[in-house]
Amino acid sequence: MHNKIFQSPILNQSKRVGIIGGGQLAWMMAVAAESLGIELVIQTPYASDPAVAIASENIFASIDDAAATAKLAARCDVITFENEFINLNALMPLARQGVCFHPSLTALAPLLDKYQQRCYLKEIGLPQAGFMSLEGKLDKEELGLVEVSGQSIKLNDLEFPLVLKARRQGYDGKGTFIIKDSSSLDATWQQLKYEPVMLEEFVGFERELAVIAARSVTGKVVVYPVVETQQEEQVCRRVIVPAEISSTLATEINAIASTLLNSLQVVGVFGIELFLTTTGKVLVNEVSPRTHNSGHYTLDACETSQFEQQLRAVIGLPLGSPKMHCTGAVMVNLLGYEHSQYEYLEKRQKLASLPNSFVHWYGKKESRPGRKLGHVTVLEKGDDKLSNRNWQQEVIEKVESLWYG
Ligand code: ADP
Repeated sequence: MHNKIFQSPILNQSKRVGIIGGGQLAWMMAVAAESLGIELVIQTPYASDPAVAIASENIFASIDDAAATAKLAARCDVITFENEFINLNALMPLARQGVCFHPSLTALAPLLDKYQQRCYLKEIGLPQAGFMSLEGKLDKEELGLVEVSGQSIKLNDLEFPLVLKARRQGYDGKGTFIIKDSSSLDATWQQLKYEPVMLEEFVGFERELAVIAARSVTGKVVVYPVVETQQEEQVCRRVIVPAEISSTLATEINAIASTLLNSLQVVGVFGIELFLTTTGKVLVNEVSPRTHNSGHYTLDACETSQFEQQLRAVIGLPLGSPKMHCTGAVMVNLLGYEHSQYEYLEKRQKLASLPNSFVHWYGKKESRPGRKLGHVTVLEKGDDKLSNRNWQQEVIEKVESLWYG
């Protein structure tokens, strides 16, 4: 694909899409890019990033290097993002000069800081847990006073457990801490150098859910099936598709996704993480302004993957159908469990030989505990004699014993 100008079967001239970030989310756009006749140009500081090998061209620079993004803009029709660690202020002048970003910087602005994201969700009336910003230590030694959402209160007066979240740069649970009491709050906050953080009500959820939604340049919104996500130590381990929820709840979640994407006038794909509480209420946990781990199953289980959908949206093509072409699916993340540079070929072959399974290996050069190295999606074809739940459980046990065993 390198430097090759070719005619697309779909587009009447080839398009070049710039992507800020070179991780697995950019890498997983490769197949769709090829079939749509799109060349990808990646801005990343790391030559070892998964997407570097599939790009037509790479610009090796930090993702918040606006001068590099100006070069990227000169080589592309549109720029999109594969992570949220964006320096909006640095990019604003480019947008003012006419560089096309999708989603737009204005749509991203309320989402990049977790506390500001919460304030925005509140403004548009979406359901969520109680939250506050924790901004400064006033007089710890004497009174333990802190500034919480503009008011000074005593740390001891807060109701525990609470969840403390770094406002930026968090991912895979890094930056999210469950806090049991005021002394551990202080200790955790100290680790974060008393930077402003967000405090959130601890939600005793029954399950965690997520949904992927896309919006086109003409304002059409498509929403994928709602999925169940299972986290361990705040990291997503597996995704079950579709989530076993009532149609009323699915409609409610669809409405949340549409309200959010329409009010921000997003062009692109968003992942929305939700809690289902023990009383059956849905609360938004977090919005990711990009493709999301909870949507990886769409590569193998849906008519249009989330990655194709993002490309379609940002280059102005009509969106594809989000429908599944199987009755269900299970996606299991292959997380690193040791420090090594091993490629785990044998394990991957075993996983690939499971019926209806699709292994995606991101080609990272190094494994570390908890690092997302790949994922496996196993499709349910509806001819199974076991109940859905049993089938899902069997698949998960099989995959995880092959991988971690
Ligand atoms: P990240 O942005 O790193 O993914 P999240 O805010 O999504 O972090 O939190 C990661 C996980 O931590 C969630 O999936 C959930 O399991 C747990 N968690 C986050 N917020 C809360 C909360 N308010 N109450 C209970 N658990 C939470």
